[in-house]
Amino acid sequence: MGEATKLLVRARAGNRCEYCHSHQDDEPFFRFQVEHIIAKQHGGGDEDTNLALACPHCNLHKGPNLAGLDPFGDALTPLFNPREQRWEEDFAHRGPLIMGQTAVGRATVRVLNMNDRIRLELRVSVQARTS
Ligand SMILES: [Zn+2]
Repeated sequence: MGEATKLLVRARAGNRCEYCHSHQDDEPFFRFQVEHIIAKQHGGGDEDTNLALACPHCNLHKGPNLAGLDPFGDALTPLFNPREQRWEEDFAHRGPLIMGQTAVGRATVRVLNMNDRIRLELRVSVQARTS
């Protein structure tokens, strides 16, 4: 993947993780990564429609996963795809928490462990600084 593609993905995302919406400026010591929405292991390519910007936390937990179980009913559910779905439809902020609004959102929050204690502490400190 070339540098131009990485720059495009970063700019398109507005320097935000496309999963948890954390901003690069809030985590200056951890460079956000360009990740494959469909992992190469599953046949995903380097085209920009298969790429997203992700913070290291989301990228690490997503790994090559494509799906998760919806905590309400345990249905196998595809993970959120930032190229095909709108964040606001699948997720909502409630204080520092990220709430899944749909099966896709709930499965993604769970697999990416978006409300892990460290992530909540980060969001609390960012909210305190910006409000
Ligand atoms: Zn993230």
